[in-house]
Order: sequence, then structure tokens, then C-alpha cells
Amino acid sequence: MTSPDTSSHKTVAFHTLGCKLNFSETSDMCRRMTNAGYVKVDFTESADIYVINTCTVTEEANKKCRQIISRCKRLNPNAFVVVTGCYAQLQAQKISQIEGVNLVLGGNKKTQILSIIEQCLASHESKIILSTDILHDKDFFPSYSAGDRTRSFLKVQDGCDYFCSYCTIPMARGLSRSASIASTVQMARQAAADGAREIVLTGVNIGDFGRHQGETLLGLIQELEGVDGVERFRISSIEPNLLTDDIIRHCAASRKFMPHFHVPLQSGSDAMLKLMRRRYDTALYAQKVQTIKSLIPNAFIGVDVIVGVNGETPELFEQTRSFIESIDVSQLHVFTYSERPNTKALAIKPVVPVPERHHRNAILHEISERKRIAFYQAHQGQEAKVLIESSLRDGLHVGFTENYIRVELPASPHEVNTIATVRLGELTSDALALSASRI
Ligand code: SF4
Repeated sequence: MTSPDTSSHKTVAFHTLGCKLNFSETSDMCRRMTNAGYVKVDFTESADIYVINTCTVTEEANKKCRQIISRCKRLNPNAFVVVTGCYAQLQAQKISQIEGVNLVLGGNKKTQILSIIEQCLASHESKIILSTDILHDKDFFPSYSAGDRTRSFLKVQDGCDYFCSYCTIPMARGLSRSASIASTVQMARQAAADGAREIVLTGVNIGDFGRHQGETLLGLIQELEGVDGVERFRISSIEPNLLTDDIIRHCAASRKFMPHFHVPLQSGSDAMLKLMRRRYDTALYAQKVQTIKSLIPNAFIGVDVIVGVNGETPELFEQTRSFIESIDVSQLHVFTYSERPNTKALAIKPVVPVPERHHRNAILHEISERKRIAFYQAHQGQEAKVLIESSLRDGLHVGFTENYIRVELPASPHEVNTIATVRLGELTSDALALSASRI
């Protein structure tokens, strides 16, 4: 570890790896630094301080973090480099050995980033600051993202009690916890005051919101309906066993909660779901999809699947493939299994060879594209409301409909973060979106 010169550190740059939760927390760290007078610069520029908010869901994520650290030092050899997030929480010693790292900050020390950095700068010290006992950590700090994206990610829950056999997140983020409905709604109002028209509720296991306070996610979404200025809410991801029919019914009747669900499946084989220590079976999953589609026929249903987890024989993978073909979902996020330290899946046999894992990923990806394009084309010619987002090219902007169809539409820069009414047209040449004309 190297000791930096502290006097002139005024610029700070942030880089986020991983999930929406990390983006909301990076935004919170950024607000703390800029409110204290630091100037935020782009991560591709030379900065006095770099903050990397890491992920550790796959080995690839760890590798990316190491590459980013050396890039920071190339941009400014005297920079003060901070590594935080899930990889930092789980592999602090290892990260502290990487040339150029000045501070390794445990996942739930992010709210103290300003004072800890200034301590280090003042003392010319390099440090490792960790929450060693994160599994007994009851602290929950809310956050929301603002400024870097059109939609705001609102952190409503953190941690997880499930310990699925392939997953390392509980060890990185601790056990499930959340704030009260009242303070979470207050945070949503702050995000609205900061210009958010669309808010995405995010967390690790958000269906578990409020369990320790005798409150529920349903109670929260009912209260969020009353937040002025926010026209759209999305539920980022919710475990099938926690997606109650009341939540689905609420979204079906709601003007603000979008017809868009993301429900992790992970495997379509009951035998694999048992090995994964998941808390539902395929019958329950199919019933949830059926309930959503019967109450909200145009709903978009996104699905997480992991292929090649230890124990997944070709027969069990075939069960997954045929189950997914049989359910009316809109798109898959297909992850290739990556061994994680200290997880129960490591002891399960057989191990699926890596090339076979990639082969299975390709099979499910093909199914996903077929389902997504069919879902898009089923809406061609229909009227839709689109939140206008970033500029694409030559007067075209990108946006998403209420039921999460990606749209390319004519718009001007001052219309970003406004909602337009369109007629959905043909599939674009790259099949990634539908074209649209303004109504
Ligand atoms: S539900 Fe399972 S996969 Fe999801 S974060 Fe918790 S332990 Fe990990």
C-alpha cells in the first residue's frame, strides 16, 4: 500500500460494478463527497480520489475490479484509491495487497466514506476499514440514485437470510434488514425532489421488506402511491415465494406501479431448486406467472436463471429448458455458474465443465431472444407511454414503455425525463427495440 500527498485532493470519480443497489449507494457516497465540496469528475479523467464500488457475484467481477484499480493509477499515479462494496467486504486482505489501493472499506461503512477518507489523507495513512461481523450488523442505511440515470434506484432493503447454496451475497451484505415504511417513503420524496419521475425499488431480497418491523412490501407500495412527482414505480426483483397475489393485484389496479415483474427462477428443475436451497418449486413459479398474466395480460416478466450449477446433470438442465419453454415469460437473464468461496454448492457433484456451462447459457439465451422479440411484436401498432431517456443518435432517443419495451423515438434533449405518448412501430434493424412515432 502507498501513502499519498493529501493537500490538493479536490476531485473525485466513482465507478460502480454490479447491481442497482450498488448504484444507489454510489450515488449516496457521491452526494456526501460533493456536499463537502469535492468536485465529481468522470471516471475516465484524472482524479485525486477514485472510489470503486465492487461486486463479487462472479469471479469475472473480481477480475474487473483489479483492472479498474490499475486504470486509476495510470490516469493519476498519485491518486487516492478507495475500494468498497461486496468484493471489498469478502476479500479485504487480498485487495489491500493490490498495488495502488489506499483504502479498503467494508460494505456497510459506505456512509462514513467522507470522514474515513479525510482521516487517511490527514494522517498520510493507508487503511483497511471493515465491518468484520456483517452477519450481526443490524444497521440499514437508505440511499437512492440521482443524476446519472433517468430512473432512480431507491434502496428499500439490504442483506438476505436465505443462503442459497451457490450464493455469497449474505456473507457480503449481511442478514435481511430495512428501514420503516415512513422513512422509506420520505427517501422516495427526496428522490422525487431531485427530479426522479421513475423510481425502481431495489434491494437484495426486497420481498422481505419490513419483516423485522412487522411491516410488509405491500404496505410500502401502497404508501408510495401517494408520493407526488413520481409517475412510475418498478419493483426491481422479487423472490417468487415473496411475490404475493396481493402485491400482483395491487400492481394490476395501480396507476403508478408498472406492469413489469422480475422474478428469479434460477432453475426449472425441482431437483436443482432443492440443491440450490431455493424456497419454492416450479409449480409455485408457474402459478405466479399465471396469476400475473391473468390479472395483467400485457405485463413484462423478466426471469433470472443460473446454468451449470454443481449437480445440474444434462437431464436436469433439460427440465429447466422445457419448463422455461412452457411458461409465458418475456425475457431471461441467464447467468453462468461461477464457484463462490464458502458456499454449500462447492460440495455438490457432479461439477459441470465450464464449456458445457457456456453451451447451456447459449441455449437459454436463444430462447430468451425468441420470447423477448415475440413479446415486443405482440405490441406493435399499440399506443404506449414512454419515459424518454438518453440520446441515441440523429435526434433519436431511447426510452421504455410501462411494460418495459425498449423504444427508439424521435425526441429532443430537453424532453429527457419526460413521458411521451407514442404508437409502437416495427422492430428496429438490430431487433433490440421497437421504433415509435409520437402521437
Ligand atoms: S435469495 Fe438466495 S440468491 Fe438471492 S441474495 Fe439471497 S441467498 Fe443470494
